[in-house]
Amino acid sequence: MRPLLFAANWKMHLGPDDARAYLKAFRARYNRREHREVWFFPPAVSVEAAAQSARDRADLLVGTQDIYWEPKGAFTGAVSAPLALQAGARATLIGHSERRHVFGETDDDTRRKLGAALGAGLLPVLCVGETLAERDAGHTLAVVIRQLAAALSGLDGAALSRVVVAYEPVWAIGTGRTPTPADVVEVHNFIREHLTARFGAAGEGMRVLYGGSVKPSNAKELLTLANVDGALVGGASLKADDFLGIAAAYM
Ligand code: PEP
Repeated sequence: MRPLLFAANWKMHLGPDDARAYLKAFRARYNRREHREVWFFPPAVSVEAAAQSARDRADLLVGTQDIYWEPKGAFTGAVSAPLALQAGARATLIGHSERRHVFGETDDDTRRKLGAALGAGLLPVLCVGETLAERDAGHTLAVVIRQLAAALSGLDGAALSRVVVAYEPVWAIGTGRTPTPADVVEVHNFIREHLTARFGAAGEGMRVLYGGSVKPSNAKELLTLANVDGALVGGASLKADDFLGIAAAYM
């Protein structure tokens, strides 16, 4: 059974003091549950504060929103996987749509970052998803497969079993729009079949999250769908109460 995973992407919000206050409020009201994990992705400057605030809760884990693939060197502004680990990160987002579409990251960048994350011992959450133009052109499944294949090529079973996939249609992120349940099921079934056919038992064990305008009012409808193993939540994760309404209330 794949444990449910609820992941909060704080984007460029919540500094170290905010992170401490948030985690204090969250952990006071969120009781540990079987087969359920909650991961937080603060901005890099808040990783250490968040990780300290979650340190004695095995079900709460902190990650970083991005890494660079080189371990160290003259790369001003970048954070490497070993540096993120040292600050307390245990996971990292890879290829979030804002990294791809605002900062111009390519499929090849995601492959290098994913390899660097695994090599350093970080759990990667690989984000994939189509733009509205790609959906309208009927290319959703082809885009998702291309992004998966590019990032996962060359990985063995042990490495793959540590990768989480997040299906996030670009047009649903931060817009309040969500795909229909049937659309979500179509893509998640497709990803599940692809992972299992391509990687066998390791693929079967990989979690596939849905992300894109998940909020307390639609979480149950979206997250009880077949082959949806949890959620990656942006805007509605910025307030501990809202995120609790998703991570704790569902099921
Ligand atoms: C995200 O940032 O990954 C995301 C899904 O954002 P939102 O929930 O705001 O759409």
